[in-house]
Amino acid sequence: MLKGKTALVTGSTSGIGLGIAKALAGQGASIVLNGFGDVEGPKAEVAALGVQVAYHGADMSKPAEIEDMMKFAAAQFGRVDILVNNAGIQHVANVEDFPVDKWDAIIAINLSSAFHASRLALPAMKTANWGRIINLASVHGLVASAQKSAYVAAKHGLIGLTKVTALESATTGVTCNAICPGWVLTPLVQKQVDDKAAANGWTNEESIRHLLSEKEPSLQFTTPQELGELAIFFCSPAANNVRGVAWNMDGGWAAQ
Ligand code: NAD
Repeated sequence: MLKGKTALVTGSTSGIGLGIAKALAGQGASIVLNGFGDVEGPKAEVAALGVQVAYHGADMSKPAEIEDMMKFAAAQFGRVDILVNNAGIQHVANVEDFPVDKWDAIIAINLSSAFHASRLALPAMKTANWGRIINLASVHGLVASAQKSAYVAAKHGLIGLTKVTALESATTGVTCNAICPGWVLTPLVQKQVDDKAAANGWTNEESIRHLLSEKEPSLQFTTPQELGELAIFFCSPAANNVRGVAWNMDGGWAAQ
């Protein structure tokens, strides 16, 4: 379905981003990966799906590096047709204890980076009259949890950005939507599992059980593969007129 298209997925060396990159590659899209840590492993996983893959190591908190990445993607593949704004980090503390540098980093990486990548991708998408911007928000873009002020503020903001981008593109073939996962067992969440286990003397399994039962009625993690399938739907012709939605895949979290 996506042969001839190029997808750039930020923060795709791990977790949800890598899952979405592989899902889009499975539909034939060329892929631009981004993120820190091991690069060769994720590149090989995507290449094994028979598509072209490139990598750019832009730090998504740095607008100049984002600009460089967008130019690189256009030089490699001609154009970015699908932009998945996924890079994100977390830090957990009460507002009065929240480190200022962590607040700034979360707003930069989880929110401002999506603005920068989108503003740079939109002109070519509008010229082509086809494009998909998919913002990885969170159920925390819809409801709050204590100790996650920066993350919740960034994700609520990202849903606002999604709606404005969708409205400004509404008469074109460019759509913008947000995906709002509940718990997904990636390194970002495993750290929270580990911290709770250490603080309470729980095993990994006990910590996971507490984490899920506190918020997620299904008591199940959503998987990167399931999120990838939703991204494929947003890229499909059936979703041509799906604009500005914040679609939760959260095991019933936000329904409570
Ligand atoms: P993860 O830690 O597995 O992956 C994060 C990715 O972002 C990695 O590739 C990392 O290298 C990259 N990254 C981090 N900082 C970066 C920076 N400054 N520049 C470039 N890349 C950077 O996390 P994940 O759980 O897969 O999260 C992906 C997205 O999904 C995030 O936006 C997160 O907020 C969101 N999300 C996750 C969950 C969950 O339960 N895991 C739930 C809802 C939303």
